Amino acid sequence: YYNYCPLLSISSCFSASQQRLSSEHGEHENELYDVIISGGGMVGTAMACSLGLDPNLEGKKILLLEAGNKKVMDKVPDAYSTRVSSISPGSATLLSGVGAWDHIMNMRCKPYQKMQVWDACSDALITFDKENLQDEMAYIVENNIIVAALTKQLENLSDQVRVQYKSKVVKYTWPKSHQVADAIPWVQVTLANGQTLQTKLLIGADGPNSMVRQEAGIPTVKWNYDQSAVVAVLHLSEPTENNVAWQRFLPTGPIAMLPLSDTESSLVWSTSHRHAEELLQLDEESFVDSINTAFWSNENHSELVETAGSLFRTALSVLMPSAGSARQLPPSVAGIGPKSRVMFPLGMGHASEYIRHRVALIGDAAHRVHPLAGQGANLGFGDVACLTQLLSQAAFNGKDLGAMQHLLEYETERQRHNLPMMAAIDLMKRLYSTNAVPMVVLRTFGLQATNTLPAMKAQIMAFASK
Ligand SMILES: Cc1cc2nc3c(=O)[nH]c(=O)nc-3n(C[C@H](O)[C@H](O)[C@H](O)COP(=O)(O)OP(=O)(O)OC[C@H]3O[C@@H](n4cnc5c(N)ncnc54)[C@H](O)[C@@H]3O)c2cc1C
Repeated sequence: YYNYCPLLSISSCFSASQQRLSSEHGEHENELYDVIISGGGMVGTAMACSLGLDPNLEGKKILLLEAGNKKVMDKVPDAYSTRVSSISPGSATLLSGVGAWDHIMNMRCKPYQKMQVWDACSDALITFDKENLQDEMAYIVENNIIVAALTKQLENLSDQVRVQYKSKVVKYTWPKSHQVADAIPWVQVTLANGQTLQTKLLIGADGPNSMVRQEAGIPTVKWNYDQSAVVAVLHLSEPTENNVAWQRFLPTGPIAMLPLSDTESSLVWSTSHRHAEELLQLDEESFVDSINTAFWSNENHSELVETAGSLFRTALSVLMPSAGSARQLPPSVAGIGPKSRVMFPLGMGHASEYIRHRVALIGDAAHRVHPLAGQGANLGFGDVACLTQLLSQAAFNGKDLGAMQHLLEYETERQRHNLPMMAAIDLMKRLYSTNAVPMVVLRTFGLQATNTLPAMKAQIMAFASK
């Protein structure tokens, strides 16, 4: 009974008091869904599209709940949004598979072909580019364009997926693992308006402070970084091809300039909380000066590190004369977009379990990372692809979607991918948050050596582009 209370006889699973509630909230009260996705950000909305399009899940009742308003975009605003994501080719494939990529391309999106990462404390740098410079390394897309594109696609799937906006979940009641009189075998979801719903599988896509994760009691390793990210839209001094993503590691944190158009880029500057607050208070001219200085100044260079770095570079060039790539100079910044400076405190978090009986976590609800590698949303889209495939298979085999067997496969597969990525990002954050000479020398050697090894760079790119 616990695992296979049939959909048609669901009324026999309800207590009399729950049935009374139905009449107060109309036809959807206490309705049983096969899947409820809680949270309609980039990842939850992609999950809803992906499940809605899967032929094996046809006929399943799927509901997306989002606390906020519906995010549509009839016309793309002239001004760029400050919140953007670097979307990997793997994520672009997922978004294309759910029919949202064409909408994104029709709205606004900037591909880039190259990335240059360098150290402010030495001359060390690493560049990544596609062998064929026609190929895209990744795409910078505004977050609200991604959500709007997915929302548009969901409208085409209204027969497969129901969506409720302005529907904040305030309580989850978990199925009891033992037989209790009147016990409900499904996850019960209570909304702020008092409406209750039930589901065979709850997917928590409710972001880094996930209530699904907290109420399910899933242990989470998390900490706040000593950094906040200041984001802004930047106007460049002159039009350029602008097809390079730039990131420089300052001792206070990384500063990145990501291409938006020939004349505009997006700033993500991670720095101490206090410095971030100061940057927000500066007048526009001083703010722009600070950005240009952060990209151009050599004030953190030391003679010792430079000598060691140049000796090491000479040795490498003898061993591998043709390897390595030349330094390029980033464009200079002339101004910023109107009202475009915002800051976000940064942290890292990882749910030690992504699943429980009838529950799965995806996106930032399961893992939150520092933005230095531009991977947060990409990891979430990877979760979507993996979970869809396993649920599709389970439905094809007539299995209960909330059963542990395939959920465990999801957890194993995703943790195997996400954990090494998270560890690498956290290590980078720590390795570069210092200007102590031994550490700088160590990372200078590491970066220079890696830059001369095309096979290793190709592997790094392949891992990050999934
Ligand atoms: C400065 C910065 C730069 C970044 N750059 C990149 C990048 O370049 N590339 C990249 O891949 N990632 C990047 N990220 C990370 C990326 O933004 C996140 O990983 C991504 O937004 C997570 O999406 P999500 O849908 O999982 O969560 P969220 O975006 O947090 O969405 C959660 C949704 O759940 C809803 N919700 C929450 N609680 C409830 C509730 N109780 N009931 C109903 N709904 C609820 C919320 O309203 C929200 O819509 C960056 C992050 C930052 C801070």
